[in-house]
Amino acid sequence: MTEEVVLEPLPEEEKLELKMVIYPDASLKWKATGLKEEDVKDPECKVKETADAMIETMYKYAGIGLAAQQVGVPYAIFVMDCNWPTEGEQNAEVFLNPVIKEYGKGVVTLNHPGEGCLSTPYGFKAQVKRSERVRIEWRDLKWELQDEWFDGLDAICVQHEIDHLHGHLFVDRISRLKRDIFDRKVKKARRHYINGVKRVKREIAMMKRADKRGRK
Ligand SMILES: [Zn+2]
Repeated sequence: MTEEVVLEPLPEEEKLELKMVIYPDASLKWKATGLKEEDVKDPECKVKETADAMIETMYKYAGIGLAAQQVGVPYAIFVMDCNWPTEGEQNAEVFLNPVIKEYGKGVVTLNHPGEGCLSTPYGFKAQVKRSERVRIEWRDLKWELQDEWFDGLDAICVQHEIDHLHGHLFVDRISRLKRDIFDRKVKKARRHYINGVKRVKREIAMMKRADKRGRK
């Protein structure tokens, strides 16, 4: 007989706050650490809390999938809800230690403009060739082994998220030409950001000087 795991909602103060990691942060290259049954049952590991916080973060940023590396967590976890927000109801699923066991024969790409990623908010999307169907095996939060085929958007999302767990992004799977466009967009966005920070710092310094003069 197996011991039953009781999963209760957490009190507000026990909730984890996760921050979205943005490319080119190093954690996006992490290879996820597989979880063990004792990790999931050990309250110190906070696996359930992490998964809950990941779901919350995914909805907050209006994503349909989120991998642990995107919030700086090294575990092999991803969460997914491809029906939201179109159908309104939130029904996210948690995947621990997911492994692709089989690929269907066909190839699909997400309709134009294609895939994007919450960790690459640079206004860049691209069509990536994916298997139209995949069979994956994973553990749920009760450590029960699950095995299922996914197709359509679910299949694309599953492959995108499992890529994250191996330290890969969708932009690692596009042509050199498209990758150059992406790299230029990132460079430009970072330059804007750095210039913005410099401007804010200058303005603060000016205000401080004016404040000093005013007090004289
Ligand atoms: Zn992503």
